Amino acid sequence: MTYDKTNIFAKILRGEIPCNKVYEDDHALAFHDINPQAPIHVLVIPKGDYVSMADFTAHAPDSLVTGFFRAVGEVARSLELEQPGYRILANAGRDAHQEVPHLHIHIFGGKKLGPMLTR
Ligand code: AMP
Repeated sequence: MTYDKTNIFAKILRGEIPCNKVYEDDHALAFHDINPQAPIHVLVIPKGDYVSMADFTAHAPDSLVTGFFRAVGEVARSLELEQPGYRILANAGRDAHQEVPHLHIHIFGGKKLGPMLTR
């Protein structure tokens, strides 16, 4: 799938639209989801043009893959979610209902999250 540079997270990365930032480094940006599904709902996105986890792991340089995953862990730590626990999730493609075609990892926490999937 070709990366669409007009997607909303690309615009956030370019600073064209604002976000409620939680964390940023050379590899990743994290911000609060605009429509939270849990008391804490943060999105972490890599700084690069990648549609999905498959695209990212196939094409991103090692330094970015490492940096991105370190950032996800750092955000969970900084939100003090390690002890109570949290869930990470990345939707990819139609069946998963991916809305924004830029890889993003959801971090959910702040309450007991229940079973993994709604049946
Ligand atoms: P997904 O269905 O996995 O693609 O999730 C996309 C997520 O992006 C949804 O949870 C949306 O609420 C969230 N979202 C969309 N636009 C924005 C925005 N401008 N700022 C923050 N979160 C957003």
